[in-house]
Amino acid sequence: MSLQSSIEWTDATWNPVRGCTKISPGCKHCYAETFAERFRGVKGHPYEQGFDLRLVPEKLCEPLRWRAPKMIFVNSMSDLFHDSIPEDYIVAVAGVMAAANWHTYQVLTKRSARLRSLLNSRLAFAAKERHIWWGVSVEDQRYGLPRIVDLRAADAAVRFLSVEPLLEDLGRINLSGVHWVIVGGESGPGARPMKKEWVVSVRDQCRTSGVPFFFKQWGGVRKAAAGRRLDRRTYDEFPSRVRNPVPGPADCMALALQIESPFKDLGLISISRRDLARPATAAF
Ligand code: SF4
Repeated sequence: MSLQSSIEWTDATWNPVRGCTKISPGCKHCYAETFAERFRGVKGHPYEQGFDLRLVPEKLCEPLRWRAPKMIFVNSMSDLFHDSIPEDYIVAVAGVMAAANWHTYQVLTKRSARLRSLLNSRLAFAAKERHIWWGVSVEDQRYGLPRIVDLRAADAAVRFLSVEPLLEDLGRINLSGVHWVIVGGESGPGARPMKKEWVVSVRDQCRTSGVPFFFKQWGGVRKAAAGRRLDRRTYDEFPSRVRNPVPGPADCMALALQIESPFKDLGLISISRRDLARPATAAF
């Protein structure tokens, strides 16, 4: 777990999985890939294998060992619902989130069909917890809007949308059953532009529907200069958070050992990039 995050809408990141493959236009300038590939081949570095997908069982129980309550972005360097991640492992990640309930978790995916299917079955125990927020990325109409349909069909207590990088006007969005919306523009070299009217449209629909709205950034090549003010103010709204007591260290350790034990002997599990490559995703 990284104890601090520079992402505006979270406090910390936790990566029990590393690596991913591209699935839609929002992935084009994936910051996680850029970061991870920088360290490919660097002996002993956590990203020695670049952005290849792999499970990291030794990270599985980190939130149980971190006792100060935090807002945690789960798998900032991967996608928990990637097809290649075994279902038992996803259930174990959800088990840690359910057990370490003094934190608030933000789980964000582009694989919304698997999210829907698992939240309505093996992850139902975690789906109804108010300290776990389940979200989908929405970058455009073609790929993003169908993910909202999946999210709304998932029987979750808290649902959110990460509308970033916003690549076009989304038109009318059905926000019923949605509890939070984040909007942001792409940043870094080659950043695709975001028009103000696209942002205003989402903000105004959130206002009409009573949904908390968080404006992360305008983005662009010089993100800091562009800032994050919209109509002369910032938008930093969140859903309300649950405050649960923190158990004693011995109880936390016992829970961690119980959850970890089936995965202890797995070590680091790698799935090679070549095995994951699919022609359908190559364009992204
Ligand atoms: S789904 Fe997320 S982590 Fe995976 S490639 Fe796309 S942007 Fe990167």
